[in-house]
Amino acid sequence: MVSGPERRLVLATRNGHKVVELREILRDALDRTGLELVGLDAFEGLADVVESGVTFAENALLKARYAASATGLPALADDSGLAVDVLGGSPGVFSARWAGPLARSAGIPVDEANNQLLLAQLADVPDEHRAAGFVCAAALVLPGERSGTSGHHVVREGHCRGVLGREPVGDNGFGYDPLLVRPDGRTLAEHSAQEKNAVSHRGEAFRALAQDVETLLA
Ligand code: IMP
Repeated sequence: MVSGPERRLVLATRNGHKVVELREILRDALDRTGLELVGLDAFEGLADVVESGVTFAENALLKARYAASATGLPALADDSGLAVDVLGGSPGVFSARWAGPLARSAGIPVDEANNQLLLAQLADVPDEHRAAGFVCAAALVLPGERSGTSGHHVVREGHCRGVLGREPVGDNGFGYDPLLVRPDGRTLAEHSAQEKNAVSHRGEAFRALAQDVETLLA
């Protein structure tokens, strides 16, 4: 168990919902290591990291490395997106801004614009070719070079597969959740938060990373 000021583990996000979600997914690892998970809002003067990577892992590492070096604490970060098979893995790392300019000019919420654009792009694609999946890369970076640890960063991936529907269905979640139909016939936006955590790309990636948190920070 770590002690003193290093009892904190920083999650490189300003999204309070993500911090709450990750506290739940990492609960056992946090309990066993005595670490408290905090977001970037717990610190002053931190810059926003430009996500200039071309893979989820690169972007997760960029964010975690910055948070670790700026705070001197072990840091977690994730980068996620939707990969559509027939589009060769796009929107991928561009998921958040896929319809950016369209959304701005039309004055509609960005998630809605992204969904509309994707549905239009796939309008002629038959059901058997509409497979897609969310991908999440979750990174743990230790500050500086710590002796006695087996490495100073780890990245784990998680996936959540499904088929893209033809219209948004469901009110829960965010982003492309209303489009991804899971094997049980419901979109992710028809899952409760708990149900989604159990099957989601982020849940899978961070459950794997929880083992590393325990091993490297115990
Ligand atoms: P982030 O890296 O988690 O911020 O995700 C980037 C973008 O990918 C989001 O803005 C969404 O468009 C999409 N995305 C990531 N995870 C999810 C999810 O769980 N549901 C729906 N969309 C997601």
